[in-house]
Amino acid sequence: MKLNELTITELRTLLDNREVSAQDVLRDVQGRIDEVEEQVKAYVTVTRDEALTMAKQADETLAAQKGSLLTGIPIAVKDNMCTKGIRTTCSSKILANFIPPYESTVTAKLLDQKYVLTGKTNLDEFAMGSSTENSGFHTSRNPWNLQCVPGGSSGGSAAAVAANECIAALGSDTGGSIRQPAALCGVVGLKPTYGLVSRYGLVAFASSLDQIGPITKNVRDAALLLNLIAGHDPLDSTSAPVDVPDYAPYLGKEIKGLKVGIPKEYFIDGMHPEIDQSVRDAIRQLESLGAVPVEVSLPHTGYAVATYYILATSEASSNLGRYDGVRYGHRAKSKDLIDMYMQSRSEGFGPEVKRRIMLGTYALSAGYYDAYYKKGQQVRTLIKQDFEKAFEQCDVIATPTSPSPAFGIGEKATDPLQMYLSDIFTISVNLAGVPAISLPCGFTGDNLPIGLQIIGKSFDEATVLQAAYAFEQSTSWHTRRASL
Ligand code: GLN
Repeated sequence: MKLNELTITELRTLLDNREVSAQDVLRDVQGRIDEVEEQVKAYVTVTRDEALTMAKQADETLAAQKGSLLTGIPIAVKDNMCTKGIRTTCSSKILANFIPPYESTVTAKLLDQKYVLTGKTNLDEFAMGSSTENSGFHTSRNPWNLQCVPGGSSGGSAAAVAANECIAALGSDTGGSIRQPAALCGVVGLKPTYGLVSRYGLVAFASSLDQIGPITKNVRDAALLLNLIAGHDPLDSTSAPVDVPDYAPYLGKEIKGLKVGIPKEYFIDGMHPEIDQSVRDAIRQLESLGAVPVEVSLPHTGYAVATYYILATSEASSNLGRYDGVRYGHRAKSKDLIDMYMQSRSEGFGPEVKRRIMLGTYALSAGYYDAYYKKGQQVRTLIKQDFEKAFEQCDVIATPTSPSPAFGIGEKATDPLQMYLSDIFTISVNLAGVPAISLPCGFTGDNLPIGLQIIGKSFDEATVLQAAYAFEQSTSWHTRRASL
């Protein structure tokens, strides 16, 4: 077996026992990148030389002492997290040549441990999308079927993990962007509670919804990586001052008596039949492990997509105001100041980003603010209360992650509404701020992965991971790899 096919946990033992070196691991990962990246296109930037330097430094550390969790482990980072001195584009032409002068908090934590950065992964421009087709550079491919999208917006990260082009990755999730691509690529993705992981250095899309989280080959790696990146950060005013528990003891803890809520609004007519079947089988599997299914209701689910697309676009229209051709990024050639601002933005932003800036500006404008933005905030509160009420009756909630498996490239690209509906099962979680994981729970007849979503109470990632691990270890879905 090649080293790039292993997990963080497996490599940690090999590295600490000095059976392999960080440079050996990197050689296999970069060999794999050479072999498949031309087809998968998971990366915007492969940091080949930087990775080699980092692997050498990791080996020097490992010669003297045992490593920390990520010492010498090759990790891919979504290209919307700032990496000092390394180009960070958000897959946007407007930031095509942006080199951050500072490091995001999450990647700084990885650097402290002497991780190895394999590269910056592709996304939908500014994380707006569900397929990576909105990237300003290229569309990433699904390793299970190269004619299909990997999902999005963290599609590059999920594809890189699924294709063994890294050991694990970081993604960001505003309305499903970690969980949906994880589901479509057959890997594990976790969106933490809002405020658990610092957003310092994450390029803002919708600041009240954005969270960074791990995309990994199994639940254990997700738990370990989350432990590393979680925690209060004075550099992010929305970072929660909470104590982060050690998640490891929850892995392997039995789930007898655990109440699993099944929201009736998430099992609807017209759902993809194989997804419906797999998720129902998954719930039966949890039951066979001692969990107790209880029907719950999240009555405002039907308003979630509309609410999200008002609030997220409003925040985006404000956040993206900073790209004016002066302070950051692309500047158009023009002698006139106002014309220069306008041309810089016209040339730099792609069509989906422009659509969202217009929608958000409209929703925030005088005369419409009360009808749209304010109403959106009120419905958001109702959606949050739906979860609080449901969690009075259960410990976690189980749903499908995505209404469809990986779809064909181009299939939904011309129909924004169809694309927005890809996030119907993931968006409410961001509006409510609660944590959720997606993990493999089956395959379609066409051999495309299906994801199970497990949602938890605020700051109760421990129970989410406990349930996910119990399910994973009692099934073999996570052991399947794309035969690329
Ligand atoms: N697909 C959703 C959107 O387009 C969610 C994106 C995300 O989570 N970053 O906004």
